[in-house]
Amino acid sequence: MKRISKKHAIYAMSAANPPAAHVAMGERFVIETEDCYSARLKTKKDVFTKKMWPTVNPVTGPIFAEGARAGDILKVEILGIRTRDWAVMCVEHGAGALGDFIRGIETVILPIRAGKLIVSDRLSLPVNTMIGVIGTAPKGKGVLTGTPGEHGANMDTREITAGATVYLPVNVEGALLALGDLHAVMGDGEVCICGAETAGEVTLRISIEKRPLPTPCVENNTEMIFIGSARRLDDCEKIVLAKAHRYLTDCLDMKPNDAARLMSLVGQLRVSQVVDPLKTMKFLLPKKYLAKV
Ligand code: CA
Ligand code: ZN
Repeated sequence: MKRISKKHAIYAMSAANPPAAHVAMGERFVIETEDCYSARLKTKKDVFTKKMWPTVNPVTGPIFAEGARAGDILKVEILGIRTRDWAVMCVEHGAGALGDFIRGIETVILPIRAGKLIVSDRLSLPVNTMIGVIGTAPKGKGVLTGTPGEHGANMDTREITAGATVYLPVNVEGALLALGDLHAVMGDGEVCICGAETAGEVTLRISIEKRPLPTPCVENNTEMIFIGSARRLDDCEKIVLAKAHRYLTDCLDMKPNDAARLMSLVGQLRVSQVVDPLKTMKFLLPKKYLAKV
Protein backbone atom coordinates (compact mmCIF):
# COMPACT_ATOMS: atom_id res chain seq x y z
CA MET A 1 0.00 0.00 0.00
CA LYS A 2 1.25 3.49 -0.85
CA ARG A 3 2.27 5.46 2.24
CA ILE A 4 2.61 9.23 2.18
CA SER A 5 5.03 10.43 4.84
CA LYS A 6 4.14 13.30 7.14
CA LYS A 7 7.34 14.94 5.91
CA HIS A 8 5.10 16.18 3.07
CA ALA A 9 3.66 18.90 5.30
CA ILE A 10 1.86 21.85 3.75
CA TYR A 11 0.22 24.84 5.45
CA ALA A 12 -2.15 26.02 2.73
CA MET A 13 -4.67 24.28 0.52
CA SER A 14 -3.49 25.52 -2.84
CA ALA A 15 -3.45 24.60 -6.51
CA ALA A 16 0.20 25.69 -6.45
CA ASN A 17 1.31 22.82 -4.17
CA PRO A 18 3.21 20.14 -6.09
CA PRO A 19 1.67 16.67 -5.51
CA ALA A 20 3.30 14.53 -2.80
CA ALA A 21 1.90 11.41 -4.48
CA HIS A 22 -0.41 10.26 -7.26
CA VAL A 23 -3.20 7.87 -6.31
CA ALA A 24 -5.53 5.97 -8.63
CA MET A 25 -9.29 5.71 -8.20
CA GLY A 26 -10.15 2.78 -5.94
CA GLU A 27 -6.60 2.46 -4.63
CA ARG A 28 -6.09 2.14 -0.87
CA PHE A 29 -3.36 4.29 0.62
CA VAL A 30 -2.08 5.58 3.94
CA ILE A 31 -1.40 9.18 4.90
CA GLU A 32 0.71 9.87 7.97
CA THR A 33 -0.21 13.05 9.83
CA GLU A 34 1.53 15.32 12.35
CA ASP A 35 -0.37 17.00 15.18
CA CYS A 36 -1.65 20.57 14.80
CA TYR A 37 1.32 21.96 16.77
CA SER A 38 3.83 20.36 14.36
CA ALA A 39 5.02 18.18 17.28
CA ARG A 40 6.46 21.19 19.13
CA LEU A 41 4.49 20.49 22.33
CA LYS A 42 5.79 17.25 23.83
CA THR A 43 5.75 17.95 27.58
CA LYS A 44 3.71 20.20 29.84
CA LYS A 45 6.62 22.66 29.83
CA ASP A 46 6.18 23.31 26.10
CA VAL A 47 3.59 25.98 25.29
CA PHE A 48 2.26 27.45 22.11
CA THR A 49 3.90 30.72 21.10
CA LYS A 50 3.20 33.20 18.31
CA LYS A 51 6.46 32.13 16.71
CA MET A 52 4.82 28.79 15.91
CA TRP A 53 2.00 30.28 13.84
CA PRO A 54 3.61 29.65 10.43
CA THR A 55 3.78 25.91 11.15
CA VAL A 56 0.45 25.40 12.91
CA ASN A 57 -2.08 23.00 11.35
CA PRO A 58 0.24 21.06 9.06
CA VAL A 59 -1.53 18.72 6.66
CA THR A 60 0.01 15.95 4.62
CA GLY A 61 -0.18 16.02 0.86
CA PRO A 62 -1.40 17.00 -1.52
CA ILE A 63 -2.56 13.79 -3.16
CA PHE A 64 -3.16 13.99 -6.89
CA ALA A 65 -6.29 11.91 -7.56
CA GLU A 66 -5.74 10.48 -11.03
CA GLY A 67 -8.65 11.21 -13.34
CA ALA A 68 -10.34 13.78 -11.08
CA ARG A 69 -11.41 16.81 -13.10
CA ALA A 70 -12.71 20.21 -12.03
CA GLY A 71 -16.45 19.94 -11.41
CA ASP A 72 -16.25 16.31 -10.14
CA ILE A 73 -17.05 15.31 -6.58
CA LEU A 74 -14.29 13.42 -4.79
CA LYS A 75 -15.46 10.58 -2.55
CA VAL A 76 -12.99 9.95 0.27
CA GLU A 77 -13.64 6.82 2.32
CA ILE A 78 -11.93 6.83 5.71
CA LEU A 79 -11.12 3.14 6.15
CA GLY A 80 -9.14 3.40 9.37
CA ILE A 81 -7.32 5.78 11.70
CA ARG A 82 -4.48 4.95 14.10
CA THR A 83 -2.87 7.40 16.48
CA ARG A 84 0.25 7.58 18.62
CA ASP A 85 -0.23 6.87 22.33
CA TRP A 86 -0.68 10.42 23.60
CA ALA A 87 -2.53 13.62 22.85
CA VAL A 88 -1.83 17.22 23.80
CA MET A 89 -3.97 20.26 24.59
CA CYS A 90 -2.77 23.83 25.04
CA VAL A 91 -5.19 26.46 26.39
CA GLU A 92 -4.43 30.15 26.71
CA HIS A 93 -6.09 33.22 28.17
CA GLY A 94 -8.00 35.02 25.44
CA ALA A 95 -7.93 32.13 22.98
CA GLY A 96 -11.01 30.20 21.91
CA ALA A 97 -14.62 30.62 23.04
CA LEU A 98 -13.60 30.09 26.69
CA GLY A 99 -10.62 32.42 26.61
CA ASP A 100 -12.03 34.72 29.31
CA PHE A 101 -12.14 31.85 31.78
CA ILE A 102 -8.61 30.60 31.24
CA ARG A 103 -5.71 31.81 33.34
CA GLY A 104 -2.30 32.03 31.72
CA ILE A 105 -1.26 29.35 29.30
CA GLU A 106 -1.20 25.63 30.03
CA THR A 107 -0.26 22.48 28.17
CA VAL A 108 -1.42 19.04 29.25
CA ILE A 109 -0.28 15.70 27.86
CA LEU A 110 -3.01 13.05 27.90
CA PRO A 111 -2.05 9.38 27.46
CA ILE A 112 -4.06 7.18 25.09
CA ARG A 113 -4.31 3.62 26.36
CA ALA A 114 -6.48 0.71 25.19
CA GLY A 115 -8.89 2.94 23.31
CA LYS A 116 -9.24 5.48 26.13
CA LEU A 117 -8.01 9.02 26.51
CA ILE A 118 -6.76 9.31 30.11
CA VAL A 119 -7.92 12.75 31.31
CA SER A 120 -7.17 12.15 35.01
CA ASP A 121 -6.86 9.32 37.55
CA ARG A 122 -10.64 9.17 37.71
CA LEU A 123 -11.76 10.16 34.22
CA SER A 124 -11.03 8.47 30.92
CA LEU A 125 -12.96 8.98 27.70
CA PRO A 126 -13.55 6.61 24.78
CA VAL A 127 -11.32 7.51 21.85
CA ASN A 128 -13.17 8.36 18.64
CA THR A 129 -10.42 9.80 16.50
CA MET A 130 -11.58 12.38 13.98
CA ILE A 131 -9.85 14.29 11.20
CA GLY A 132 -9.84 18.04 11.93
CA VAL A 133 -8.53 19.19 8.54
CA ILE A 134 -9.43 17.45 5.27
CA GLY A 135 -9.87 19.25 2.01
CA THR A 136 -9.03 19.81 -1.63
CA ALA A 137 -7.31 22.74 -3.30
CA PRO A 138 -9.60 25.71 -3.91
CA LYS A 139 -9.62 27.40 -7.29
CA GLY A 140 -7.35 30.42 -7.54
CA LYS A 141 -5.56 31.70 -4.45
CA GLY A 142 -4.57 29.23 -1.73
CA VAL A 143 -6.19 29.21 1.71
CA LEU A 144 -4.32 28.53 4.97
CA THR A 145 -5.10 25.05 6.32
CA GLY A 146 -6.53 26.54 9.53
CA THR A 147 -9.46 28.13 7.67
CA PRO A 148 -12.44 25.98 6.67
CA GLY A 149 -14.53 26.63 3.57
CA GLU A 150 -16.32 25.13 0.61
CA HIS A 151 -13.13 23.20 -0.18
CA GLY A 152 -13.25 21.56 3.27
CA ALA A 153 -10.05 21.98 5.36
CA ASN A 154 -10.32 22.87 9.08
CA MET A 155 -13.97 21.84 9.51
CA ASP A 156 -13.28 20.25 12.91
CA THR A 157 -16.40 18.12 12.55
CA ARG A 158 -16.35 15.13 14.83
CA GLU A 159 -18.29 12.88 12.47
CA ILE A 160 -15.23 12.83 10.15
CA THR A 161 -13.95 9.59 11.60
CA ALA A 162 -13.14 6.00 10.63
CA GLY A 163 -16.03 4.43 8.73
CA ALA A 164 -17.28 7.76 7.39
CA THR A 165 -17.07 9.00 3.82
CA VAL A 166 -16.27 12.64 3.06
CA TYR A 167 -17.39 14.24 -0.21
CA LEU A 168 -15.32 17.20 -1.41
CA PRO A 169 -15.41 19.38 -4.51
CA VAL A 170 -12.78 18.93 -7.19
CA ASN A 171 -11.76 22.48 -8.09
CA VAL A 172 -8.54 21.75 -9.94
CA GLU A 173 -7.29 18.77 -11.91
CA GLY A 174 -6.28 15.94 -9.54
CA ALA A 175 -8.28 17.49 -6.65
CA LEU A 176 -5.10 17.85 -4.51
CA LEU A 177 -6.46 16.21 -1.37
CA ALA A 178 -4.66 16.86 1.92
CA LEU A 179 -5.45 16.11 5.54
CA GLY A 180 -4.19 16.26 9.09
CA ASP A 181 -5.05 17.54 12.58
CA LEU A 182 -6.29 14.32 14.21
CA HIS A 183 -8.25 14.65 17.46
CA ALA A 184 -8.51 11.51 19.62
CA VAL A 185 -11.56 13.07 21.30
CA MET A 186 -13.46 16.28 20.60
CA GLY A 187 -16.89 17.62 21.50
CA ASP A 188 -19.15 19.75 19.33
CA GLY A 189 -17.83 23.33 19.33
CA GLU A 190 -14.16 22.67 20.20
CA VAL A 191 -14.80 25.48 22.64
CA CYS A 192 -11.43 25.76 24.43
CA ILE A 193 -9.70 26.04 20.97
CA CYS A 194 -8.36 22.49 20.66
CA GLY A 195 -9.37 18.86 20.84
CA ALA A 196 -7.14 16.04 22.11
CA GLU A 197 -4.54 16.83 19.46
CA THR A 198 -2.55 13.90 18.17
CA ALA A 199 -0.56 12.46 15.27
CA GLY A 200 -1.19 9.21 13.45
CA GLU A 201 -2.04 7.64 10.14
CA VAL A 202 -5.20 7.40 8.10
CA THR A 203 -6.08 4.69 5.58
CA LEU A 204 -8.18 5.97 2.69
CA ARG A 205 -9.74 5.09 -0.63
CA ILE A 206 -10.81 7.69 -3.17
CA SER A 207 -13.18 7.63 -6.12
CA ILE A 208 -15.52 9.91 -8.06
CA GLU A 209 -19.05 10.29 -6.67
CA LYS A 210 -21.85 10.32 -9.24
CA ARG A 211 -24.68 11.76 -7.10
CA PRO A 212 -24.84 15.58 -7.34
CA LEU A 213 -24.20 15.94 -3.59
CA PRO A 214 -23.74 19.37 -2.06
CA THR A 215 -20.22 19.52 -0.63
CA PRO A 216 -18.55 19.33 1.84
CA CYS A 217 -20.69 16.50 3.08
CA VAL A 218 -20.10 13.45 5.27
CA GLU A 219 -21.93 10.14 5.12
CA ASN A 220 -21.80 7.34 7.67
CA ASN A 221 -23.97 4.28 8.33
CA THR A 222 -26.69 6.33 9.95
CA GLU A 223 -26.51 9.93 8.71
CA MET A 224 -25.97 12.35 5.86
CA ILE A 225 -24.21 15.44 7.24
CA PHE A 226 -24.00 18.75 5.38
CA ILE A 227 -21.27 21.19 6.39
CA GLY A 228 -20.85 24.93 5.96
CA SER A 229 -18.46 27.59 7.27
CA ALA A 230 -18.77 31.37 7.61
CA ARG A 231 -17.71 34.18 9.93
CA ARG A 232 -21.01 34.13 11.82
CA LEU A 233 -23.06 31.13 12.93
CA ASP A 234 -26.21 32.74 11.46
CA ASP A 235 -24.60 32.48 8.04
CA CYS A 236 -23.35 28.92 8.65
CA GLU A 237 -26.94 27.96 9.44
CA LYS A 238 -28.21 29.31 6.12
CA ILE A 239 -25.50 27.48 4.19
CA VAL A 240 -26.07 24.06 5.77
CA LEU A 241 -29.86 24.29 5.55
CA ALA A 242 -29.65 25.19 1.85
CA LYS A 243 -27.32 22.24 1.22
CA ALA A 244 -29.53 19.73 3.03
CA HIS A 245 -32.63 21.03 1.23
CA ARG A 246 -30.86 20.84 -2.12
CA TYR A 247 -29.84 17.25 -1.36
CA LEU A 248 -33.44 16.26 -0.62
CA THR A 249 -34.87 17.95 -3.71
CA ASP A 250 -32.04 17.21 -6.22
CA CYS A 251 -30.83 13.78 -5.11
CA LEU A 252 -34.00 12.31 -3.57
CA ASP A 253 -36.54 14.13 -5.77
CA MET A 254 -38.54 15.49 -2.83
CA LYS A 255 -40.88 18.43 -3.37
CA PRO A 256 -39.54 21.64 -1.75
CA ASN A 257 -42.21 21.84 0.96
CA ASP A 258 -41.98 18.13 1.79
CA ALA A 259 -38.21 18.48 2.10
CA ALA A 260 -38.55 21.45 4.43
CA ARG A 261 -41.06 19.63 6.64
CA LEU A 262 -38.86 16.54 6.85
CA MET A 263 -35.84 18.67 7.78
CA SER A 264 -37.87 20.26 10.55
CA LEU A 265 -39.09 16.89 11.84
CA VAL A 266 -35.91 14.80 11.88
CA GLY A 267 -32.95 17.08 11.06
CA GLN A 268 -30.35 18.08 13.62
CA LEU A 269 -28.74 21.50 13.27
CA ARG A 270 -25.49 21.49 15.24
CA VAL A 271 -22.25 23.35 15.67
CA SER A 272 -18.99 21.76 14.54
CA GLN A 273 -16.61 24.42 15.82
CA VAL A 274 -16.62 28.09 16.90
CA VAL A 275 -12.86 28.69 17.29
CA ASP A 276 -11.35 28.76 13.79
CA PRO A 277 -11.09 31.89 11.53
CA LEU A 278 -14.50 30.88 10.14
CA LYS A 279 -17.05 28.97 12.24
CA THR A 280 -18.57 25.68 11.07
CA MET A 281 -22.02 24.18 11.42
CA LYS A 282 -23.53 20.91 10.26
CA PHE A 283 -27.00 19.61 9.50
CA LEU A 284 -27.55 15.90 10.11
CA LEU A 285 -30.27 13.87 8.39
CA PRO A 286 -30.90 10.31 9.67
CA LYS A 287 -30.67 7.88 6.74
CA LYS A 288 -33.32 5.54 8.12
CA TYR A 289 -35.97 8.11 7.18
CA LEU A 290 -34.37 9.10 3.88
CA ALA A 291 -34.82 5.56 2.59
CA LYS A 292 -38.59 6.04 2.80
CA VAL A 293 -39.11 9.42 1.11
CA1 CA B 1 -8.57 21.95 13.82
ZN1 ZN C 1 -6.74 20.15 16.00
